[in-house]
Amino acid sequence: MKPSPKGSLKQNIVETFFQKQTTAWSILIFSLVLTALAWYIADHAVEKRISERLHFQSLDLVTAIKKRMLEYEMVLHSGIGLFKASSEVTRDEWKTFVENIEIQKFFPGIQGIGFSLMVPPDQKEKHEKEIQAEGFPHFKINPKGERDMYSSIVFLEPFDWRNQRAFGYDMYSQATRRAAMERARDTGEAAISGRVTLVQETDKDVQYGFLLYLPLYQKGKPVNSVKERRASLIGFVYSPFRIKDLMSGILLAGQGDISFELYDSNSPSPKTVLYNHENTGRLLYGDKNLKPRYDDLQKITIGGRVWSIYLYAKPGFSSSSEKSQPLIVAFGGILVDVLLFFIILSISRRKKLAESIANEMTSELQEKTQELARSNDQLEQFVYTVSHDLKSPLVTSMGFIGIINDLARKGEYEKALEKLDKVVVANQRMGQLINDLLELSRVGRVDLEKKTLDMNVLIGNLCKEKEKELKGKNITLICEENFPDIYGNGSRVLQIFENLLSNAMKYGKNSKEGSKISIGSEEKKNEVVFYMSDNGIGIAKEFHEKIFGLFQRLDNSGEGTGIGLAITKKAVEFHGGRIWLESKQGEGTTFYVAFPTVEKSNEVH
Ligand code: ADP
Repeated sequence: MKPSPKGSLKQNIVETFFQKQTTAWSILIFSLVLTALAWYIADHAVEKRISERLHFQSLDLVTAIKKRMLEYEMVLHSGIGLFKASSEVTRDEWKTFVENIEIQKFFPGIQGIGFSLMVPPDQKEKHEKEIQAEGFPHFKINPKGERDMYSSIVFLEPFDWRNQRAFGYDMYSQATRRAAMERARDTGEAAISGRVTLVQETDKDVQYGFLLYLPLYQKGKPVNSVKERRASLIGFVYSPFRIKDLMSGILLAGQGDISFELYDSNSPSPKTVLYNHENTGRLLYGDKNLKPRYDDLQKITIGGRVWSIYLYAKPGFSSSSEKSQPLIVAFGGILVDVLLFFIILSISRRKKLAESIANEMTSELQEKTQELARSNDQLEQFVYTVSHDLKSPLVTSMGFIGIINDLARKGEYEKALEKLDKVVVANQRMGQLINDLLELSRVGRVDLEKKTLDMNVLIGNLCKEKEKELKGKNITLICEENFPDIYGNGSRVLQIFENLLSNAMKYGKNSKEGSKISIGSEEKKNEVVFYMSDNGIGIAKEFHEKIFGLFQRLDNSGEGTGIGLAITKKAVEFHGGRIWLESKQGEGTTFYVAFPTVEKSNEVH
């Protein structure tokens, strides 16, 4: 079934599309653009995933800090509870209470749990005396100085050397602490102070800290309004915190590749930094030069204060496999693109190769056709010339036969006999032509026998024979007597020399000086060169090649057929030899025939 024209057209379009080199390049560019796009998307996806992961870790951290602070608040509430449950809380009771909470074990980071009593100026002395009486003879509210209201740290457990530094300290005298105390007093809720340096700090390993306060009101008094709360305030259950101790261990296992900075403010700045998880002096937040690639800022409100947590990823945060994903996409993509390019290119190359082979075959075919046309022309020319050459003697004899016929009718036999000679000559010429043509067709036949020929015998006999013919004519024939052997067919080789000699005798005449024909030879490396020279009219240069063609004649005597030299050349070539001539017009002609030496011929055969 024939394919539909539409289908084959479509197929052709598709085929040529894939066979063009420009297609390969276009597809390469297009696929590279796609790869770049894929890389871009992959890169963004990875980036987004990493950012999201950091964000969730940030939320985890916020939750952890909040949970801790709530737990501490609960501890302080239980301290309040202790005061509310008893009429009076003694130092020992407080000590036992705090010991039971086991803060070291359950509430890491908490510095202690204390109680600070509000002391009006008129009761200051009495208060100091009471505490001194408990066995602390040097007890004084500190710092010294007259103020309109005092607070005094009465209990602070565990009562170790560090906490003893805070014993009797008036936190109300210091603005940051006082602000938190007043807030706790007025709201009735837990309040966290701003960033302070605790009085417990020595010179070593100084850390920032803060305090968490819960207000203690007089039992049974109303605390519904700020005024009522202020009126019934007794003191504060509180906890001091050293920030490093509090934060240590707050990052969970597996969070080693992130870090954070904690600020005691809604708007982070070096002045409000509370904690830097990195033990370096540098803060990354807000520093353009140090800005981490992945970061997150969270706010928390604890105890009435807003803290900012700046969490960021350290270099190891994103795994190398994660980071290499976009690169894998890019490199894999480029690899596929280039492969595709070369495949299409090789298709188009192969097509070109096929085309050039086809072109070669076509031009070869054209050459053959031309050759065929040429030989066809030659054949036509040949047939034309042969028929022409045959026709003229035929016409001649036909004409004379007619005349003879007329003469015979009239009884003029003498005249008729005369004309008959003309018919005989014309017929001889036709016969010669036919003979020559037959000879030409025979000369190259491969089944001819070849053997080593003694040229002294072959040419010697020819010369002897011709010498007889030449007697009385003004022609001298000189035959050399030392010819080398050649390998060939005797009658064909004889024909070569016969033709050349008869031509020399026919056309090489020199009536002035007398004709002189000589035959000789010369042995060369691989061939034997024979020559036959005359001192006749010579042959013009332009005919030196032509003369070996069929029907080429230089004189118009009508004697020759113009086939002899064609036969001679064919015979020479049949023996693997070559023939050429040297001549100057008016100075004679020399024909050369070169045959391969016997050894050379036997190598070939
Ligand atoms: P033909 O049968 O006419 O002799 P050839 O092929 O043998 O045909 O020779 C072709 C022509 O070459 C001759 O007609 C003659 O004009 C020329 N020719 C051949 N041999 C010689 C020669 N030795 N000197 C001058 N002309 C020659």
